[in-house]
Amino acid sequence: MAEIPTVVLDFTRMALRAFYSDVYVVVADIILFERNYAKEETIVEKLAGSAAKDVRAILDLMKRALILRCEKRTQRRVVEKKGPGWFRSVTSQFWFVDFQTFLDLVRYRFHFMRLGIKHRIENELEHQKYVCENCARSYTALDVNRLVDFNTGMLVCDKQLGRKRVCRGAVVEEDTQGEEQRARELQNTLESQLRPLVELLEACDGVHVPAHPLEGADEAVWGKYVPETVDGTGRSVNIHVSEFETYGARPNAVAVELVDSNADQVTAPSQDSMIPEKPVWFQQEGLAAGGQKPAEVQATMLSKKDPAVPSGGAEAAAAGTSGSAYYEAYLRDQQAQQQHEGADTAAAVAPIKGEEEEGEEEFDANFVDVPSSIPTGLDVPSRPQQQQSEQEELFVMVGETKLKLDEITEEHTEKMTPTEYEDYYAKLRLAGYIEVEE
Ligand SMILES: [Zn+2]
Repeated sequence: MAEIPTVVLDFTRMALRAFYSDVYVVVADIILFERNYAKEETIVEKLAGSAAKDVRAILDLMKRALILRCEKRTQRRVVEKKGPGWFRSVTSQFWFVDFQTFLDLVRYRFHFMRLGIKHRIENELEHQKYVCENCARSYTALDVNRLVDFNTGMLVCDKQLGRKRVCRGAVVEEDTQGEEQRARELQNTLESQLRPLVELLEACDGVHVPAHPLEGADEAVWGKYVPETVDGTGRSVNIHVSEFETYGARPNAVAVELVDSNADQVTAPSQDSMIPEKPVWFQQEGLAAGGQKPAEVQATMLSKKDPAVPSGGAEAAAAGTSGSAYYEAYLRDQQAQQQHEGADTAAAVAPIKGEEEEGEEEFDANFVDVPSSIPTGLDVPSRPQQQQSEQEELFVMVGETKLKLDEITEEHTEKMTPTEYEDYYAKLRLAGYIEVEE
């Protein structure tokens, strides 16, 4: 890992605070805290309460502002569902502050600030104005030759006031001394306020600024920052469990509202998003009325839960479990799950079919989001025995027609309204046809 000189780091922090919005400062600080090589998911995770798309919008703005750079790296992700030995290639986005560009960026900014004031002072000197005391018409230096009265050597106004009538008022130089004075004062203020930054910037000239955060890093360092193999939540599987607590299982302590008056794209997160998403098995206890006690159902659900869903960690944290305890429980569940692998595969492949065993049905029934809102046309509550098989069928509305999920063809999807398509997509996810790529 290329060491970032302290003076460069200090300068970057100070310049960001001087010229950029608070949101930029927070995001840049998170990246710098991660040794200036942060995975996009990590940044999102640390900005607890902000939607991933908002964070991405800010990162994109900072990239366009030449503060940040990003690059993609391919990693192998363990697919737990399929058992040991299964991997999938995933591409992760890594973000870092481009120090070399940033230093140039600030240098350029200084140059323009100084140039602006310099021009202002020069303008006052060069563009002298002359004004008629009588009619207040103003003249430039180019008009002076024409206006000179050779008898007196004075400037005389030649403005035509009426037919054969000229103003002939005395033309005098306009007082620009005050303006020039103000511009010079502004120049002094600017220089005194920039001095700390300028001094730091000059100190930066003498040190080597790494072009890339991983410049000169050996394989071991690369392996640590860009692990070759990651688990479902994107963390390295090679790191010992105790290190998970240090790097991975940190609670989201920083809650930042991404409100930026300069950036319209960034919206404030709603209050709801501060609360971790409810797990799928959490919502209706009433639905677990298949004879099982809620605790048992919960245990079943936990073992079935897709381990790739990152909210799992948040739940465990919310329940007061430590990261490692959660991980151990998770591994145990994983082993238990592998024993039922055959049944699980069947459930994953065809979850909407009705001929599964009793335990599986309960699981799927809970996955149906709000079953009462699906217009089945049948009096569901009065037929509790058939309720489960009814709920396993996921229906999608296309215009006025109600269709089973597996009846939907490409033609149907083309006819769907955006709302209907969203609903259809959500149900595909529920049924396990689409794997969510985080
Ligand atoms: Zn005049």
